[in-house]
Amino acid sequence: MSSPSKPNDGAPVVSNFIRNIVDADLASGKYAGRRWSGKPGPGPQQQAGQPDPAKIRTRFPPEPNGYLHFGHAKSICLNFGLARDYGGQCHLRFDDTNPEKEEQEYVDSIVDAVKWLGFDWGPNLYYASNYFDFMYEAAEHLITSGNAYVDSQTAEEMRATRGTLTEAGLDSPYRNRAPAENLDLFRRMRAGEFADGAHVLRAKIDMKSPNINLRDPAIYRIRRATHHNTGDRWCLYPMYTYAHPIEDALENITHSICTLEFEDQRPFYDWLLGKLADGGLLARPLPQQIEFARLNLTYVVLSKRKLIQLVDEKHVDGWDDPRLPTLVGARRRGFTPEGFRRFADMIGVTKADSLIDMSVFEECQREHLNESALRRIAVLDPLKLVIDNYPEGQEELCEAPNHPQKPELGKRPIPFSKELWIEREDFAENPPKGYFRLFPGNKVRLRYGFVVECTSCDKDAAGNITAVHCNYFADSKSGTPGADNYKVKGNLHWVSAKHAYGCEVRLYDRLFTVPNPGAGERDFLLDINPAAKQVISAQLEPALREAAAEDRFQFERHGYFVADRADSRPGAPVFNRAVTLKDSWTKAK
Ligand code: ATP
Ligand code: MG
Repeated sequence: MSSPSKPNDGAPVVSNFIRNIVDADLASGKYAGRRWSGKPGPGPQQQAGQPDPAKIRTRFPPEPNGYLHFGHAKSICLNFGLARDYGGQCHLRFDDTNPEKEEQEYVDSIVDAVKWLGFDWGPNLYYASNYFDFMYEAAEHLITSGNAYVDSQTAEEMRATRGTLTEAGLDSPYRNRAPAENLDLFRRMRAGEFADGAHVLRAKIDMKSPNINLRDPAIYRIRRATHHNTGDRWCLYPMYTYAHPIEDALENITHSICTLEFEDQRPFYDWLLGKLADGGLLARPLPQQIEFARLNLTYVVLSKRKLIQLVDEKHVDGWDDPRLPTLVGARRRGFTPEGFRRFADMIGVTKADSLIDMSVFEECQREHLNESALRRIAVLDPLKLVIDNYPEGQEELCEAPNHPQKPELGKRPIPFSKELWIEREDFAENPPKGYFRLFPGNKVRLRYGFVVECTSCDKDAAGNITAVHCNYFADSKSGTPGADNYKVKGNLHWVSAKHAYGCEVRLYDRLFTVPNPGAGERDFLLDINPAAKQVISAQLEPALREAAAEDRFQFERHGYFVADRADSRPGAPVFNRAVTLKDSWTKAK
């Protein structure tokens, strides 16, 4: 279908160390003779035929214990992007080994988010919990082959004998239990004979290993908790580090890509799969774990703990708050899947930790929005403009292009009448130097409409300007021959007051005021940007009344906006600002 050099989203594929590994593996025929591991069961083993040696398999393995964020988007684009570019497959797999924290609500939102980003797992949607039977059998195999034992020390004792980075650990007094005794205890653990925490099953590797992850890691613990998928069937749950490699192997994953913090786990990953393959429970070649640097972004937090805190303490309005770097938030904000994919392509993957500037992300979004969003007119801070010499009751249509770079998208009519809304900042009674907009005696063009000359303004008792007056030149209409006779410097946007759609608009901005919120010991909540959400009443061109939820527009001179998918009603959309037209952060602050 596609070759490694296939462009995606218009950008040429830039090679990276992971692609180099994939290329080498395919060239060396590493996967020739590959077959499914395990019994036909709930995983892809039930698919007809053996796996194709020319096809890679990757996976995105979220734990359903929270909403996905921008960091996950990097991993999703990487895993699904590799599968797409190499004509392979990417599985969506829920790593649901921790029953206390996991919920169906999270499963549903993750499914939606991955789809929204534009990726498709086909039939390959799996759950770690589907493999609990196999994992249990594999544990019995480790016990009978002398590679695992039941430890009856308390959690406290185990911690105390684990050693440190510089000191070896100590063997548990239970380490040399006979396999038959271990097996008996393990089966009784499963049968529910013991209290939570009374015993754990540990891999028997090496308490003196310089890698702490190899010091007899726990692989099963007793937990009486109801699982979102398996209910109360189990009171014994596998540890993530044990479950994950087995899931990969059962699904015939070729390249198991994870973030750098798992690098020290790789020896255990290989140890475990090696033992199970030696015992005939898994087929070789086995999956290979590859680590890459996680996404860190300025002006946001991506830690699950901090995101939960922001939501729970109501610093934001829920998980889909457009200020949050969650994918549900991004969607409401008006960011686009294409923008995310572009961003992922642009930052690439490396092994070196780095901090990406938020402006890089925003620029990717702007680029795609600029190409795709239709242009509309919005007055965000309305001030009345009265055209004194325009006949009372008269109205006419002006024409505005839907996209200046894409004439094929056509034009739309916008009504013009005697009273218009203009931006408050587009009038100055006493203009500063170099001000080309409206002030008494100055002429400007009302964009797509007429040239007007400002005459005066009205004020209230407090001296606030309440309306501006002008006269228009009837022969100056844009698109008519007379238009060229008028040379003016200012070109202002407007909407007809009588026809305008007045509605709520939310101006969103970055959630934090500093690049690295909570740097050092500082409480990150102190860095929240109080101006990250401003709610205003705006006057929009009438066509916007018909906008459907999630329609995105460029409001000329202002930025990119979307009809909010949560709060819009048919015929009454409200709009969220995704991003301004230009970056005001990099230079100004
Ligand atoms: P937890 O602490 O609950 O494990 P997590 O953010 O790692 O949090 P997972 O559901 O385990 O959440 O993540 C799913 C996948 O997304 C993992 O493969 C993980 O490595 C990847 N991932 C998570 N955060 C980032 C990030 N900031 N950049 C890139 N990938 C990430
Ligand atoms: Mg994780």
